[in-house]
Amino acid sequence: MKVSVDMELCEANALCVMECPEVFQLTDDDKLILLKEHPGEELRAKVEAAAQLCPRLAITVTDD
Ligand code: SF4
Repeated sequence: MKVSVDMELCEANALCVMECPEVFQLTDDDKLILLKEHPGEELRAKVEAAAQLCPRLAITVTDD
């Protein structure tokens, strides 16, 4: 799976970080960073939940 975040849409509210900290992290100056652009399948449910939670619909999950 491949995860991408549209930084133009992201408002850094950290909802995805709370759902899946293995993949999403906020920097000290409130910038979202992707820790894993290609997470393992064991993280799929959490990544997809994070994408659904994002109020800005900034997270896209596709297959490699
Ligand atoms: S949930 Fe969406 S808007 Fe919030 S930090 Fe994550 S990507 Fe950005």
